[in-house]
Amino acid sequence: MKKALAKIHQQLDALYPPGELRELIRWMMEEVAGIPPYRLLLVDDVLTDKQRLQIEVIVDRLAKKEPIQYIWGETTFCGLPFHVSRDVLIPRPETEQLVRLIVNDFSSCPSPRILDIGTGSGCIAISLASLLPASRVTALDISSSALRVAADNATLNHVSVSWTCVDILSSEAESCLEQYDCIVSNPPYIMEHEQLEMDASVLDYEPHKALFVPDTDPLLFYRRIVQLAKSHLMAGGWLYFEINEQCGDAMLELLNSAGFSPTTIIKDYFGKDRMLKAQLVL
Ligand code: GLN
Repeated sequence: MKKALAKIHQQLDALYPPGELRELIRWMMEEVAGIPPYRLLLVDDVLTDKQRLQIEVIVDRLAKKEPIQYIWGETTFCGLPFHVSRDVLIPRPETEQLVRLIVNDFSSCPSPRILDIGTGSGCIAISLASLLPASRVTALDISSSALRVAADNATLNHVSVSWTCVDILSSEAESCLEQYDCIVSNPPYIMEHEQLEMDASVLDYEPHKALFVPDTDPLLFYRRIVQLAKSHLMAGGWLYFEINEQCGDAMLELLNSAGFSPTTIIKDYFGKDRMLKAQLVL
């Protein structure tokens, strides 16, 4: 065991901060070999050949900065399990905040009709269906492979969501929609030039289509969703977005000029403008 640990440290020490590496090693030993953390330093040679090989494969992937969620194929979001593959974005804690906000706002609404645009792994749609059991949830995505992951996640979480594969920027999107009490979206919002500051674990593995918008038009998806929301939200219905922290003012302007009021920006755990909610005027 000591030899195995030394080898892992040799490969990963330079790539991960010590605290994070300690967690990763704990996770590997526990998940792969069933070895509780307190035994790690005490026991010699408890790994079978198969376990040793499995750990070698994982360490090689970690050495290439592949996110642990893709290696394991699963993560948690709002306390629920979600399968993830490279076809979908890994759900983020900021997005959990968005879901909690909606759950709080709609907890006393008898049976809200909810639409999630750009659902990816289905994390928003499925958590809402689970946490607001009387809701009826529909979700859209342009990627059929993402929707396969999402549908699998609905089964995993014993909820029912209605899935549609469509490009919301296309004219056919309009015909897929009904009337909703709540429309939510976490669309691509990172501007291409922001790639320069991003980590390889995101850039080399997560789907760029789910992350990036052209520098020339950062509000591309928001403008379209606002336009769709104007005709597919009930009067008094609510629109919720996750947003780029640099676009708060532009988003306020977009929503105010489209006839939404009040419009509120909410900060994430890091103090950045990250969520927005807006009501379609009655
Ligand atoms: N709605 C999904 C999420 O919040 C996917 C978002 C995306 O792909 N832009 O994780």
